[in-house]
Amino acid sequence: MEEKTLIFGHKNPDTDTICSSMVKQILCEKEGNTNVKAVRLGNVNKETKYALDYLQMEAPEFIEKVEEGQKVILVDHNEFNQSADGIENANILEVVDHHRICNFQTTDPLYYTARPFGCTSTILYQEFVEKGIEIAKTEAVLMASAIISDTLLLKSPTTTKFDEKALVELGRIAGIDINKYGLDLLKAGTDLDDFSEKELIDLDAKKFESKGVKCVIAQVNTVSIPDVLKRKEKLEEEMNNAIAENGTDLFVLAITDILNSNSQIIALGNRVDIIEKTVKLEDNMALLEGVVSRKKQLLPMVENNI
Ligand code: MN
Ligand code: MN
Repeated sequence: MEEKTLIFGHKNPDTDTICSSMVKQILCEKEGNTNVKAVRLGNVNKETKYALDYLQMEAPEFIEKVEEGQKVILVDHNEFNQSADGIENANILEVVDHHRICNFQTTDPLYYTARPFGCTSTILYQEFVEKGIEIAKTEAVLMASAIISDTLLLKSPTTTKFDEKALVELGRIAGIDINKYGLDLLKAGTDLDDFSEKELIDLDAKKFESKGVKCVIAQVNTVSIPDVLKRKEKLEEEMNNAIAENGTDLFVLAITDILNSNSQIIALGNRVDIIEKTVKLEDNMALLEGVVSRKKQLLPMVENNI
């Protein structure tokens, strides 16, 4: 049998990355392409585990890198520095994504679906609908979980009317109370006790480089910012270690209160001046009211000031 096409999202996988890769596999199979396999590039977080446990499903298999010529489908990302090691020499057949297109190039033609929605699973939901393929409970729960996660239960400014419509319909198919299930799912992701500070700053970290400035924006969700700040000293120590190790110019950790939709940021590095163009840091910190989205709020705030 021909080698399977691997489907995966970004490193430091979140719920959208894991669920969308699993849903894309299901969608391919329902279309008759069974030679596909969802995989992951990192550990499954607690929020995602909550969704998988709800469905009594196993997480996709972990892979470290892709071999030259490996056929792949990318979901929930396109930037090579967020993708599998070896992606430059893989054969990218398709991308389904809701991020900016950046540091991306292929030698061969491909399918590329980019829609500026709040979640990759909203795009996949539309694919099911447009292709007239029935959505079963399993993929409905997976897609609903991804949308809840990426849009913080439709409260993030990244949310579009398409996400809202998809989530309502998926909740109906899945037979779940979206608000109750959604809050339980998000809360499961805020249990940070088992993580060391080193793990916390890496859990959901995205790296990017702009005009030669190396940045990291990491994010953790919580229901109590003060709880997380009890660990500030140790968090800063680990951030400084990571800065020294990777030559990072600016490391921003956003501690996001999912109930009140605010973020406390801790910013370190030799380019904190970039942050201070927007907000004054006190003790390396600032509270950003109404800020919950890295993509729509934090990233532009950093990038536009470099
Ligand atoms: Mn993601
Ligand atoms: Mn996403």
